[in-house]
Amino acid sequence: MKSDILTIKKFHEGLTNKVFSAREALAEFYKIIDAKDGEIGAYLSTDRDASQTQAEEIDRMVNRGEKLSALAGIPLAIKDNIMVKGQPCTASSKLLEKYKAIYDATVIKKLRSEGSIFIGKTNMDEFAMGSSTETSAFKITKNPRDLTKVPGGSSGGSAAAVAGGMAVAALGSDTGGSIREPADFCGIVGLKPTYGAVSRYGLIPMSSSLDQIGPLTNTVEDAAIVFRAIAGEDPRDSTSASVIYGEELTNPKVEHMREMTIGLPKEYFISGIDKGVQANIAAVIADFKGLRVRFKEISLPHTKYALSTYYIIMAAEASSNLARLEGIRYARVPEAENAVDLMDRYVKNRSHGFGAEVKRRIILGTFVLSSGHYDAYYAKAQKVRALIRRDFDEAFKDVDVILTPVSPTPPFKIGEKMNNPLTMYLSDIFTMTANLAGLPALAMPPNFQLIGKPFHEADILGLGQYFERIRR
Ligand code: GLN
Repeated sequence: MKSDILTIKKFHEGLTNKVFSAREALAEFYKIIDAKDGEIGAYLSTDRDASQTQAEEIDRMVNRGEKLSALAGIPLAIKDNIMVKGQPCTASSKLLEKYKAIYDATVIKKLRSEGSIFIGKTNMDEFAMGSSTETSAFKITKNPRDLTKVPGGSSGGSAAAVAGGMAVAALGSDTGGSIREPADFCGIVGLKPTYGAVSRYGLIPMSSSLDQIGPLTNTVEDAAIVFRAIAGEDPRDSTSASVIYGEELTNPKVEHMREMTIGLPKEYFISGIDKGVQANIAAVIADFKGLRVRFKEISLPHTKYALSTYYIIMAAEASSNLARLEGIRYARVPEAENAVDLMDRYVKNRSHGFGAEVKRRIILGTFVLSSGHYDAYYAKAQKVRALIRRDFDEAFKDVDVILTPVSPTPPFKIGEKMNNPLTMYLSDIFTMTANLAGLPALAMPPNFQLIGKPFHEADILGLGQYFERIRR
């Protein structure tokens, strides 16, 4: 891991020691965005006036000698499906091209109260459906580490903004891997919290039993700092849990890490994984062994059914969530303006507003929920989901944390998988199980994922920080 990167901690030190002001830092970030983002395409919009006002307020606090929170003045990039009051919120869909958020998502409200600065909204796959950010209705995002490659998806803009030095950290959402896969492709860190750990109020929903908001950052410590700030119960999201996270997230105890046993599920170490990814994971395991962490082979026997289960449940919920976009309550596309009646308006709005991948999933989801097919597909998928969850419960009786690859492949070429949805869906093979089981999962370089017990983010973040220190 690079040591010259700007972390939340270094930024905070620079700001409190008056090495730079919040305004100077912000201007610097906008300079980098102006120089690089024409090529990379991480941002869909920026809000320079609001950011400037936020930065001025932080500088006044510094001048008054007030104590700053760890996140004060930090420029953050926000995925374009999370509401930031006054800024566009398009979910990269033509349907919402003109939509502006009229309130702050709970995560934004929390970060705003810490003094974070929301510099812009990032490109994504349309309604978070995809693994490459190529289904965006607006533009392609390139991987800052290799401009011929995709940045991953669906939070590809957020990952590219952080990896390209255009934000200190970012927020994304993860339904089947959308934080972790782009973090992996761009060589940064991504955390999908436990289901219920972070409020989704103000997130444009994709699949409500799977979605979570989480951070994309340069270091595991930064991920822990952002996660702690956004976690917590919210009366506006009935699935949010009343767990309180403390110091243990950013101050892991070495003795505790050494007592851990890491499980290696044999179903995740299959042939077909890219050789480079395999070699990286082998080196990670060797390094952990050097730290005296124990390993144990485990089995998650229902893994082979997980991807089909995910695509049925995800599509079913997505089709029902997207039903609200009928072109009346929210924005509408120009093609629907001359509609002759209500049905015509619905049809025109949805036909012209949604892209091909979104339509594919609405059709699939409507099909698996339709009478006559419900039992065969949706109800069965729910039963298999319970078995997948049970596999993890059993495994966690023997081990504390599970280690797997993040993605079976390194970043692929732009355009390579767009004509073949099935190969694109395979990108999620190692990530979507944590969503089905509701577990926290951390993706970090090089190419590995740590899955923890529910609400045990401290275990995976602790091991991640421990590892980060020896690799630096
Ligand atoms: N790539 C996965 C999909 O297309 C995951 C999406 C996500 O996590 N939002 O469904």
